[in-house]
Amino acid sequence: MTSTSGRRLALLQSDLRALNLDALVITHLPNVRYLTGLNASAGAVVICPDDCTLIVDFRYVTAATTLLAGDVERPFEIRVVENTYDDTLAERLGSLTASRIGIEAASMTVGRFNRLADVLATGHRPAQGGASVLVPTERVVERRRAVKDEEEIAIIREAARRLSKMARSVPALVVEGRTELDIAADIDSAIRSAGFERPAFETIVASGDNAARPHARPGSRRLASGDGVVLDFGGVYDGYCVDLTRTVSVGPASPDLGRLVAAVREAHEAAIAAVKPGARPSEIDHAAREVLARHGLAEAFGHGTGHGLGLEIHEDPRISKLPGALPDEPVAPGMVFTIEPGAYVPGLGGVRIEDDVLVVEGGCELLTDVPIDF
Ligand code: ZN
Ligand code: ZN
Repeated sequence: MTSTSGRRLALLQSDLRALNLDALVITHLPNVRYLTGLNASAGAVVICPDDCTLIVDFRYVTAATTLLAGDVERPFEIRVVENTYDDTLAERLGSLTASRIGIEAASMTVGRFNRLADVLATGHRPAQGGASVLVPTERVVERRRAVKDEEEIAIIREAARRLSKMARSVPALVVEGRTELDIAADIDSAIRSAGFERPAFETIVASGDNAARPHARPGSRRLASGDGVVLDFGGVYDGYCVDLTRTVSVGPASPDLGRLVAAVREAHEAAIAAVKPGARPSEIDHAAREVLARHGLAEAFGHGTGHGLGLEIHEDPRISKLPGALPDEPVAPGMVFTIEPGAYVPGLGGVRIEDDVLVVEGGCELLTDVPIDF
């Protein structure tokens, strides 16, 4: 039986063939972790059709060896950096009989690219004759990561269960007279108590007019009666991120704020109903946007409807129609992403409602389970 990690590597090796690459250099650390299990602040992987190398410095040798020793399905050779990562990487690439070496364009610096290109141009002649070339690639590992395997789904389900349970204690923190920063600190502490390694991002507590800014940072503003308060928080559990937003009011909400909540709630439901295998991200996004437009709030919703969740808090797929976004590839079973429409009206405030979904045959499974009106 093939292990989960063995399957991840085998799929990447098939991508190499499809892209006509002889090797792929992986420098984006979440991708290194995905393939090796190693959670490190530095490292690189070189994948070839028949062998793989994990390059680490002395701090991670023991962890890497423990993870990979004896794993026949992940036949990584571990190389330890002696001088610099660039030197060790250049040395490894120089010894390959590869002519087309893929690199991750989004994570490699121009400095490293030039240094590696120099080494390959001057010091190395592959068997086929001629120098090796570095080929920029985009989202090769990320596309694989977008579809979660069973091991990942189990972790994310547990993370979402813990976040949902913890979230139920949050409304009690939202009390007139407290500051946004007080509440954010309490939420962060509750996230850790719920078993998360850390918050997945800087917790957002945005009250009153601050809530009209989608990514407001918590400040010293004191909550007043009638305020709407956007609470956006998440945690990292066993490496995986989950993310949730609810909007509550301090005391009774004004009729205008109540209407805003109702419209966003309807958009949130419409987008979730649109999630099924084969749906395009732009269609899911449109389902939310159309509802808000019908309520006269088209201009009030200026961000995408959702983002993928996994080893990173924002990853593929992007549920958005915004220009310059990623290719609008249909969603597939195993994808996990947020649905988080919002409406932001200066002078009135803001509302956002966010849940995490898993695409399954015929629709989606709601991973987070928290009452919308708390
Ligand atoms: Zn969020
Ligand atoms: Zn989010």
